[in-house]
Amino acid sequence: MEKQGNIKISSENMMPIIKKWLYSEKDIFLREIVANASDAITKLKKLNTLGETANEEIYRITVTTDEKAKTLTVEDNGIGMSEEEVETYITQIAFSGAADFVTKYEKAGGDGIIGHFGLGFYSAYMVSDNIEIFTKSYQDGVKGVHWTSDGNNTYTIGDCDKETRGTKIVMHISADEKEFLKETTIRQLLNKYCSFMPYEIFLNPKGKDDQPVNTTCPLYKKQPKNCTEEEYKTFYRETFHDYNEPLFWIHLNMEYPFNLKGILYFPQAKKQVELERGQVKLYCNQVYIADNIKEVIPEFLMLLNGVIDCPEIPLNVSRSFLQNDRQVQKIAKHITKKVADKLLELYKNDKEKYENCWKDLATFVKFGCIKDDEFYQKVKDVIVFKNLCGQFLPITQCLGEEISEEDAKAGKEPKSVYYVSDENKQAQYIKMFKEAGLDALVCDTYIDPHFISYIEYKNPKRVRFLRIDADVAGALKEESGEDKETEEIFKSALEGIHVSIKSEKLKNSAVPAIVNVSEFMRRMSEMNQFYQIGNAPTDMTLIVNTANPAVVALKAASEEERITAARHIYYLALMDYRGLTPEESDAFHEITAKLLEKYLQK
Ligand code: ADP
Repeated sequence: MEKQGNIKISSENMMPIIKKWLYSEKDIFLREIVANASDAITKLKKLNTLGETANEEIYRITVTTDEKAKTLTVEDNGIGMSEEEVETYITQIAFSGAADFVTKYEKAGGDGIIGHFGLGFYSAYMVSDNIEIFTKSYQDGVKGVHWTSDGNNTYTIGDCDKETRGTKIVMHISADEKEFLKETTIRQLLNKYCSFMPYEIFLNPKGKDDQPVNTTCPLYKKQPKNCTEEEYKTFYRETFHDYNEPLFWIHLNMEYPFNLKGILYFPQAKKQVELERGQVKLYCNQVYIADNIKEVIPEFLMLLNGVIDCPEIPLNVSRSFLQNDRQVQKIAKHITKKVADKLLELYKNDKEKYENCWKDLATFVKFGCIKDDEFYQKVKDVIVFKNLCGQFLPITQCLGEEISEEDAKAGKEPKSVYYVSDENKQAQYIKMFKEAGLDALVCDTYIDPHFISYIEYKNPKRVRFLRIDADVAGALKEESGEDKETEEIFKSALEGIHVSIKSEKLKNSAVPAIVNVSEFMRRMSEMNQFYQIGNAPTDMTLIVNTANPAVVALKAASEEERITAARHIYYLALMDYRGLTPEESDAFHEITAKLLEKYLQK
């Protein structure tokens, strides 16, 4: 006997609203329907363990596409429903659940409910004109039930002769959603949402050789001590489709005070120039929710690849709520702590591997420090920089003693640490530094300028960083070797060129002059460029080296020779600093030709 009924919740207006909001994400319906099937099996399994039923069979979920009949069917052999249960759970709960979702979504101002959880069974109406349910409860003597509705305010319910226990949901796919009738589309969606679901899912099964589309016990669920290195690598490859091996990984396995399982992988860095976005997939009881939920996973950890399964994250709330949730904050902190612990452990136990991985890790760690002070405090002793000899030095060991208030008042400066931002471009400076027995740190990743400022900000009384070509004379000068006469020679020879002249006696006599731009000026100019405020010229100083024989010889030269030689020296220094503009290059060629001519004519 078939009955008709009215759905009490006013559902007529719900679907257009839901469709509008979730337009691009309507495929979540499949997750909701399959997750319900999986829940139904779990419920039955629970009863089994309680001894209420005696089923020993294999639990499974079957998904079938039928392009001819225009149906997509999801069938489980779970707990099933009696007629009353269908009335309660589907007609009332599922519909009121959807209404509740609409209210919450409206309240959140469309700010997104994580992974759109909470929409449930009703979400299948996003792609279906009509849905039929065939179900048979696990209880003995209960008849099969057939329910159908177009998702508006009426439905019919009656008996059916379903023989087997469980539920079959038949979705009559709407004409404009035909893609959901294709096996390839459904396979993709099952891979995305259901690949770790706890019961085997078969798509269009044909016989006994069928393979499930999912892994029912993903690696992260296992105890870390039972997982092999090969398994971790395979899981990484299969989950992230990255065929470069991960550097290392962290297996999160926590039950108290919250339940958190997962694996975070440190990928090999691909490009140096920009931050490579990773993918941290969030699951709830093996059901995929979404990628890179920044409210749960600290932003800098998104550079990693990983899966996190945390059933305790409230999912049917808005993102802004999640951000302020204490439990969620605790989870984020725990993950950060584990990452820091892993870095410390690796540094302590396998420094060689750590140093080998460092170029891939550096950006991530530095970015993490800038973003999260607690993380910085934890890992600061394992942040390393290479020096000019290729050794790795922890940054904390490069800082000086903290200068006291009095010393600061008396003009004492914090320790100067020199750094190189480009080993090729600054090769001449590096050579001079090395010859003078000085050292510098190589800070050549794109995040380093920011990170250096950050370290200065954290240690204002212990360090100031100077690029190797800034105030270089300060590092290389021997003793007071100033010579006013030489300065005058250069000033008049370089008349019309915007550059200040200074003389010093440098430790290395081979180089006649070097260009200096003060660290402060250069950083200002870089910042202006970064914010596109303008391209203010930086004031350069030419440090003329009074220890160089050519510079000394200039004193005895004629006016014309002085101009030619001084300019030649200037352009050479400029080449070492930043290269020449086309005009400068022209001038340099002209002077060099003149010099060669003279040299060869002798
Ligand atoms: P939720 O799953 O969040 O409770 P849904 O709208 O998805 O909301 O489903 C409503 C209810 O319908 C479920 O709680 C469950 O009791 C019942 N239900 C849905 N699908 C099935 C199924 N395949 N087998 C048994 N019961 C089901």
